[in-house]
Amino acid sequence: MSVNIPEIFACNVFNEDVMKTRLPKNVYRALKRTMQNNEPLADMETADVVANTIKEWAIERGATHYTHWFQPMTGSTAEKHDCFISPAPNGMAIMEFSGKALVKGEPDASSFPSGGLRRTSSARGYTAWDPTSYCFVKEGSLYIPTVFVSYTGEVLDKKTPLLRSMQALSKTAVRFLKLFGNDRVTRVTSTVGAEQEYFLIDKKMYDQREDLILTGRTLFGAKPPKGQDLDDQYFANLRPRVAAYMAELDEELWKLGIYSKTKHNEVAPAQHEMAPIFTTSNLGTDQNELAMEVMEKVALKHGLVCLLHEKPFEGVNGSGKHNNWSMSTNDGQNLLDPGDTPMDNLQFLTILCALIKGVDEYADLMRLSAASAGNDHRLGADEAPPAIVSMFLGEELEAVLQAIEDDAVYKTKARAFKIGVDALPSFPKDSTDRNRTSPFAFTGNRFEFRMVGSSDNIACPNVLLNTIVCEELSQFTEILEPFKGKDNFDAEVRKLLKTVIKEHRRIIFNGDGYSEEWVKEAERRGLPNYASTVDCMPHYMDEKNVRIFRKFEIYNQNEVAARTEIHLEKYSKTVRIEARTMIEMARKQLLPATMDYVQSLCEAIATKKQIGFTCNTDEKIAKKLNELADRFYESIERLETRVTEANSVSGIQKQAEFFHDVVLAEMDIMRSIADEIELNMPAAKWPIPAYSEIIYNV
Ligand code: ADP
Ligand code: MG
Repeated sequence: MSVNIPEIFACNVFNEDVMKTRLPKNVYRALKRTMQNNEPLADMETADVVANTIKEWAIERGATHYTHWFQPMTGSTAEKHDCFISPAPNGMAIMEFSGKALVKGEPDASSFPSGGLRRTSSARGYTAWDPTSYCFVKEGSLYIPTVFVSYTGEVLDKKTPLLRSMQALSKTAVRFLKLFGNDRVTRVTSTVGAEQEYFLIDKKMYDQREDLILTGRTLFGAKPPKGQDLDDQYFANLRPRVAAYMAELDEELWKLGIYSKTKHNEVAPAQHEMAPIFTTSNLGTDQNELAMEVMEKVALKHGLVCLLHEKPFEGVNGSGKHNNWSMSTNDGQNLLDPGDTPMDNLQFLTILCALIKGVDEYADLMRLSAASAGNDHRLGADEAPPAIVSMFLGEELEAVLQAIEDDAVYKTKARAFKIGVDALPSFPKDSTDRNRTSPFAFTGNRFEFRMVGSSDNIACPNVLLNTIVCEELSQFTEILEPFKGKDNFDAEVRKLLKTVIKEHRRIIFNGDGYSEEWVKEAERRGLPNYASTVDCMPHYMDEKNVRIFRKFEIYNQNEVAARTEIHLEKYSKTVRIEARTMIEMARKQLLPATMDYVQSLCEAIATKKQIGFTCNTDEKIAKKLNELADRFYESIERLETRVTEANSVSGIQKQAEFFHDVVLAEMDIMRSIADEIELNMPAAKWPIPAYSEIIYNV
C-alpha cells in the first residue's frame, strides 16, 4: 500500500495554505504580516476570526479540545487540554473558541522549574500564542504553539528566547547585509535541520529493565561479544520491524507537516536516524519536539520502545542531534552558501569570519548549550565530538583564509570529480570534504553543530548561535559602516578579515577531533575543555556572556542565573535518580540473584561431595561470585551513603559537583562489579536482559 504523500502531507496542520483558503482576505493578510515581519496581530477582532476558523477546521479533524502547547524548562513539552464545550440555552452545549482563548492561556506556573524567577506565592504564568509557528491537530486536540512567561514577564520556557534571538538576528543581519549592497533584504531567518538519532528496542526487554524505564539508559550491563566492531550497522539494510516502524513514523510526521526526508541505520546496533528537511529555527524546534513525541508513540504501536537518551548503552555509540544551522534571507539567499568562487564572495567570507571569531570567543556558550547529565556520557567519549569546541572548514576554505591572511591571490581550483569509469556521470566536487569528528563543521552551505544531545530541545543551541552571530555581525557592521559604498570598502573588509583570521585561527581544526593529540594540542592553543556539565555551566554567568544576552535582549541577568540554576539542579536530580535506581535494582534483583546462585552452587557442592564427585569448578565459581557479591554489597552501601551526603551539600553548583565527582564515580565502581558478576553468571539466572539480547533483538 503506497502513501500519497502530497495528499496526506500537513493534513493536520493549520498552515498558510489552509489560512489562505479559509480566512477572510484581510485577516489572512494581517496574520501573514505577523508571521513574516514580526508585526503584532492587529486586534482582538482579528484574533476572534482566526480562532473561530481554526476551531471549525480542527473540529472537522476530530478535535474536541484545544491546548496551549509550550516548552517549559523541564525539557519536555507541556499541554493542558480544554474542551471547546460551552453551555447553550435549554441545557444544550455548543462548541466555542474565542480570540482571547487562542491568544492567552494562564497555566499555573508554580510546578514548572523557574530557577527562582517565580515565587510560589505569585504562581501566575501566561502562555501566549506564537503565530509564527503552525497550529495542528493531534489525538483529538488542537495544539496551539505558545511561549510561556511569568507574571512579571520573565521567560520560563525555551521558545521565548529563541524568538527573541531570531528577531535580534534578523535586525542585525539586515543592517550588516546593506554594507554589501544587499538593500532588498528586509528579513533574515535562522534555519535548522535537526538530524535525530535514536535507538529502537523491544518493549518486552524494556519492561524488564527498571533502569531504562526510570532513567532512559542502562545503568548495568556487560559489554556484548559484538558491539559495533565490524562497522556493519551504518546504512545497513533495514530489518523488517524497523522498516515497518520507519514507514509509519514517516507517515505520521508527514501528516503533521514535518518533511521527514532521510532514514537510515546508524553506527551502533539498534541505532537509527531520522532527518527532516530544514526550516526556520522556530518551526524546526517545534517540529523536533513533536517528532520526538511521535517517534516514541509510534514505537509502542510496534511493540517497540524508542530510546532518545544520549547514552542508553555503554560501549556503543550514543545518540546526538546534529543541529544544521544557517541563515536565509527573505529574497532567498542562503548566507552560508559560498558559491562557486568563495574567494570572491566577500559577504560570505565576512560572515564566515564572524562565525570563526564568535565560536572562538564564545566556545563556552556553545559547549554549555549542549550540556546535560545524559550528554556528558557522550561528549568526549570516543565516538562523539569531543567536549572541546572547534571548527572544521575544509581544505578549500582553509586555503582561502590563508590567502587573505597572506595578502595572496587564491585561485579557485576546478573541482571536477574523477571516478575513473567513463560511463559514470561527472559532477562537480564539493568545496569541503566531511569531517565527522568536528563539533562544528562546515558542510558546504551550513554549519553542523554536532554536540547537541539526542533528547535535548534544540532551542538553546540555536539561541546561543544566533546571539553569538548577532554580536559579531554587529561589531563588524560598526567597523565597516563608515566605508560603505567607498572605493576602499573591499580593502577595509579584507583588512578586518585578516586580523580576525590571525587572532582566531586557533579555533579551526581540520584533523581528527577524537584523537588524544587533539586534546593536548587544544590545550596548547588555550581552548577550553569542559568535560562535564558542572564544569561548563557556571560560565553561563560570565560577564562577557551576560553582556551579549543583555545587549540583544535575549535574557536579563536574572534569567541567565535562573537557567544556570535549573540546569544544575536538573543535573543533580538526574544523577540522584540514577543512583537510587541502581541501588534498588542491586538490592532487589541483582544481588539476590547472585546470592541465590551462590547458594545453589553450595548446595550442589555439598551433594556432590557426598557422592564423591569432584567439585573444583563449582567451588571456583562459587568462591569468585561470593567475593564479588561481598564487594557488590559494600558498594551498594557506599553509594547509599554518598547519595545521602550529596543531598545535604548546600549550594546548587557545589551539590552538582558532588554528584559528579563522588556519586557518579561510586556508580561507576558499582557498575563494574555488577558487570563482572553478570559475566560469571548463567544467562538464565541473570534477572535482567543482557545487552546482546536487547540490542540484537529487533
Ligand atoms: P548528513 O549527511 O550530515 O547526515 P542529512 O541529510 O542526514 O546529512 O541531514 C542534513 C540536514 O541539514 C537536513 O536536515 C537538511 O535539511 C539540513 N540542511 C540543509 N541545508 C540547510 C540550511 N541551509 N540550514 C539548515 N539546515 C540545512
Ligand atoms: Mg544524517
